Amino acid sequence: MDNNYTVLARKYRSQDFKSLIGQDVLVKTLTTAINTGRIAHAYIFTGIRGTGKTSTARILAKALNCLASDGPTATPCGVCENCRAIAAGQHIDVMEIDAASHTGVDNIRDILDAAQYRPTNGRYKVYIIDEVHMLSTAAFNALLKTLEEPPAHVIFILATTEIRKVPVTILSRCQRFDLVRVPVDTLKKHFNWIAANEKIELTDAANELLARAADGSVRDGLSLLDQAIAQTGGHVDEAAVMDMLKRADRNVVVDFMDTILSGDTARALEMSDTIYTNGADLVMLLNDMMEWTHWATRMHPAINAGDGANSPYTADQREKTRKINSRVSLNTLSRIWQVMVAAVSEMQMSGNQKQCFDMLIVRMMHIADMPSVQEILKSNPKPAPQTVAPAPQTAAQNTENKIESAQDLGHAMQKDKQILLYTYFSENVEVCEISDGRLNYFDRKGDKDFAHKLSTWLEKYTGKPWTLVHSAQSCHVPTAIEHQQQELASDPMMAQAMGLFEGAEIVEVSK
Ligand SMILES: [Zn+2]
Repeated sequence: MDNNYTVLARKYRSQDFKSLIGQDVLVKTLTTAINTGRIAHAYIFTGIRGTGKTSTARILAKALNCLASDGPTATPCGVCENCRAIAAGQHIDVMEIDAASHTGVDNIRDILDAAQYRPTNGRYKVYIIDEVHMLSTAAFNALLKTLEEPPAHVIFILATTEIRKVPVTILSRCQRFDLVRVPVDTLKKHFNWIAANEKIELTDAANELLARAADGSVRDGLSLLDQAIAQTGGHVDEAAVMDMLKRADRNVVVDFMDTILSGDTARALEMSDTIYTNGADLVMLLNDMMEWTHWATRMHPAINAGDGANSPYTADQREKTRKINSRVSLNTLSRIWQVMVAAVSEMQMSGNQKQCFDMLIVRMMHIADMPSVQEILKSNPKPAPQTVAPAPQTAAQNTENKIESAQDLGHAMQKDKQILLYTYFSENVEVCEISDGRLNYFDRKGDKDFAHKLSTWLEKYTGKPWTLVHSAQSCHVPTAIEHQQQELASDPMMAQAMGLFEGAEIVEVSK
């Protein structure tokens, strides 16, 4: 490496709209606007880092000020005095402000005061404010004042990665453009072109890995490519990139998921050790496992959303995934997905990632092994133990609308679709004593209308009047909801599930 090495991202920064990568919609809209003379006073570009916000801002500044044409042009020449100065970030009328370091109101006010004066060398004074969401409230207000009555020769170009932090008052005065994540294929094409230009060997598999790791950001992808070139001396292959990214091979990931989902804990932990020893980044591995789970879910016969041909997996890996899918339910995939999602932040915060990861594996295997709550409820249709005044089952069977227990009462309300009545009842009411035609209860909340509504409904439902006694004191029996939760928590299967989540509580039970 010579000392004059320019990082690729800088060397290959887009210089005109045509070479802006992956932002076709933006390019088309902006070009048309410039060609038809519809130039806004303020633009805001938003998108993740490295998608070309600052590049676009500079190209736009050149388009406005290029000397090769009589007015603004969508195809700035790139060689005139103005174009070159702007590209180098040295044009006197084009101010690039990094809001992260100019957050104060005085700074911004000084800058904006100068906006009143006419441009020196260009047609327009262009203010490019990068990471504009970092400005203080006072600074935003100063900016807003200028935006409300911008001098004719001033154009603002704001850029931000966090559009939600920009005040609506500012947004409403800007023409907004969203720069999208650059697709993998587009990145690959771009990297190939650069590799050829740089006389670098870049295999397709290595390129694919880099493009995926870039996650839509040209700049991130190019710094990875820089790093790969430096490490390999210009022969960038899959193994080198894998090593650099500390990625486990996708074969390993598929095999690992296979083991986890087959329930062989000892083997899974052994594999976790090996992968870790081989230098894989465990957070990255977790991402790969989630990626697999996502694709396995899409390919699952229960969903049948294609064969995963557009997934990052080879035909062999997809075949293996199909085999795993034939013995794993969709439910299991969705549950291990939830456990992994929860583990992402846990892993990032943990001081010992390996421990955290191993515990995750064990948790996933338990989850994969366990029937769902629905399945538990289906396979245990045992009648709820009756808290108060147990009534013989036969009696209830004969007369459909007979109410002889707290459970009967709850079920009857549900059956009769008395949703509001049931909701209130199940959450607040203790049934102290109940026998046909007489109910003694304690209402924890004490709604005035409840007694009236309940007795009206009871009479209509059972065809006879009821005597309702409102107990003044709690009789210390659970409400219907509490009863359901106790039931579920005492189920051995559910107890096991609860044990896996510290501090878990049953919030809702649905059938
Ligand atoms: Zn020019």
